[in-house]
Amino acid sequence: MSIASNLSSIKNKLPQNIELVAVSKTKPNEDILEAYQAGQRIFGENKIQEMASKYEALPKDIEWHMIGHVQTNKIKFMAPFVSLVHGVDREKVLKELNKQAQKNERIIKCLLQVHIAQEETKFGFDSGELDSVLNNRSEYTHVEIVGLMGMASNTDNEDQVRGEFKTLKTLFDTISERYGLDSFNTLSMGMSGDFSIAIEEGSTMIRVGSSIFGARNY
Ligand SMILES: *Cc1c(COP(=O)(O)O)cnc(C)c1O
Repeated sequence: MSIASNLSSIKNKLPQNIELVAVSKTKPNEDILEAYQAGQRIFGENKIQEMASKYEALPKDIEWHMIGHVQTNKIKFMAPFVSLVHGVDREKVLKELNKQAQKNERIIKCLLQVHIAQEETKFGFDSGELDSVLNNRSEYTHVEIVGLMGMASNTDNEDQVRGEFKTLKTLFDTISERYGLDSFNTLSMGMSGDFSIAIEEGSTMIRVGSSIFGARNY
């Protein structure tokens, strides 16, 4: 199967209001261009420097999303161009994003990553930490928090995955009501293996890599 046909078969399954982030980490520019030529404009990467060099080389109307764990000392390399940072999982990241956004005279959009999986290895805030971050939000004049992101456990147990997505959706709705944030409208959940469940549970944005580009070789 080609990248273009993989993309179109996924898009055909998606409800209209769901945004698709094509996760191109580790993949060469030719693969990204193939998806681009098939109409895809949003790409996700998990290493800031890899994303920055792809940004330099590829068409400028691509929206680049940083979906991975953020190293604060590298934020300066993406601050001029990144469209959305999904993986904000500690306040230090927000502080540095704010600083670098200010230097670049822009507002950077971000999602707060929430720890919903049972696996200890996954990153993210718990709900108590989210409240404290959101209560401090006026400090971050150049960052706009537009939603939440989460990764479910990597398991074949569908009920567990569904339950974790439900937890995230409930938290998303609670925050929307409690804080009345403008443009708090993005719930990033779902990857190749679980995006159908995520959509049923209220996802607005899915991050799909291997189902589009094939398996990754690390
Ligand atoms: C790699 C990655 C994805 C895409 O994973 P696939 O299983 O290849 O679709 C999605 N989200 C995050 C945070 C990732 O690191």
